[in-house]
Amino acid sequence: MTKALIVGAGIGGIATALRLRKKGYDVTVLEANDYPGGKLHAIDLKGYRFDLGPSLFTMPQYVTELFELYGLQPSEWFQYHRKEVVCNYFWEDGVRFSAFADKTDFIHNAAKTFNEAPEHLQKYLDRNRKKYDLTAGLFLEKSLHKLNTYLSADTMKAMARLGSLDVASTLNRTNERTFKNSKLVQLFNRYATYNGSSPYKTPGIMSMIPHLEMHYGTFYPKGGMHRISQSLFELGQSKGIDFKFNEKVHEIVVENGKATGVITENSTYLSDIVVSNMDIYPTYKKLLKSQKHPKKVLEQERSSSALIFYWGISREFPELDLHNILFTKDYPREFRAIFEKRTLFEDPTVYINITSKEEKTDAPQRHENWFVMINAPGNHGQDWEALKKRARQQIIEKINRVLKIDLEKLITVEHILDPVGIENDTSSYRGALYGAASNNQFAAFLRHPNFSRKIKNLYFCGGSVHPGGGIPLCLLSAKIVGDLVPEV
Ligand code: FAD
Repeated sequence: MTKALIVGAGIGGIATALRLRKKGYDVTVLEANDYPGGKLHAIDLKGYRFDLGPSLFTMPQYVTELFELYGLQPSEWFQYHRKEVVCNYFWEDGVRFSAFADKTDFIHNAAKTFNEAPEHLQKYLDRNRKKYDLTAGLFLEKSLHKLNTYLSADTMKAMARLGSLDVASTLNRTNERTFKNSKLVQLFNRYATYNGSSPYKTPGIMSMIPHLEMHYGTFYPKGGMHRISQSLFELGQSKGIDFKFNEKVHEIVVENGKATGVITENSTYLSDIVVSNMDIYPTYKKLLKSQKHPKKVLEQERSSSALIFYWGISREFPELDLHNILFTKDYPREFRAIFEKRTLFEDPTVYINITSKEEKTDAPQRHENWFVMINAPGNHGQDWEALKKRARQQIIEKINRVLKIDLEKLITVEHILDPVGIENDTSSYRGALYGAASNNQFAAFLRHPNFSRKIKNLYFCGGSVHPGGGIPLCLLSAKIVGDLVPEV
């Protein structure tokens, strides 16, 4: 049987394993950790359950199609429901806003709260939809690095409408051109963080991201985000994919310009194709040391990282929902701190995710499990202990000001994850959440392709390569690799 080896059991690696198994490959996944899922992992802490990494789930169809690929009923493995409120937003001057998933309700509520004309909101959302419709097929679902992608009718259509895509403008400029209200601009600027970028640098085409949330919806998987990686892992096991844990790969073996296997701490594995789900930077720097490196691609600016406090909270908060944002008073300075000064901002935007709102068993009775995250620079050797100590205080003070509470007294347990931890746990270079940042208009084209141009039978999947980071795009990278590998 034709053999495929996959380095890493992140969501991209598991999904690629499923795609290749379906094509008839004998698939082995080698994972450095003792668990599958990579960033999509969870912990239990004194009666509280916490998802460690992703908290926002969009485009569930890319998960369910993997069950369908095997002729299975997805709901028997993986269940989820759509959220009616996408996110609750809070500002320190007392303004609060619930972003409804229903477009009409969203427009009505936003027009009232931010004193904007409903027609402006409708026009903005329509324009976002057009951006997505014009480019998704081209930028997300195909390899950008194969000639036939450029010869398609979709590409021609997108190129002809380049002006309407706001590629030359920044997301902030695009939003400021549309709205008078600075809070609404800030709300729509936040979508830059969905791929770890700055709204003051990422191109205006990124305003298609709210379209994904508002048109296709946001969802919550039963059992938590962790079920996404777990259910696909269970599917893989049931289909005969061999997962080996505590099996760190040290080298991808290349002979006569072809990948022929890998060397791990324990063994040497031979195979017909190799797929790396490891971050592209260490894949080259550690596993392909003697090969020529794509310098420009590896030098790209990395996406932001995160500092997360997982807190057990001994009270319930009816004003909070699954997703909550407490905005900074100075968004431009916050992004300058992260991307230019490589430090944490003194008044950070605080994201609070509470899965016990959806699943009571995630926290003890009348308690809540808070995942409290701020955007952070990548790990450049900063003094993280000092930064974390200061940020913890500033975050608590901010939450106290907005919710009028004394949070410190309510914290029953604590776990902390910082950029160093993210880097150590998943080999993500500098602890980046999404691979390279999209802080310029060429970023999409500079991501590494899903195959090697120099080494035959070598492929790449996951958040650091095309089409990008985040669960849906990692799943699409697996789909692209599945399309690229030869039939057996
Ligand atoms: P990873 O999850 O990076 O896993 C790579 C795997 O490869 C790891 O298991 C690692 O141990 C293994 N590995 C590495 N090197 C080796 C080696 N040499 N040998 C063997 N195994 C190796 N996305 C969203 O969609 N929504 C969100 O809300 C969201 N929020 C996030 C919040 C946080 C805090 C983080 C950290 C990420 C978030 N993301 C979010 C991003 C999302 O988690 C990632 O884009 C995605 O999970 C990355 O998957 P991946 O397939 O690239 O692999």
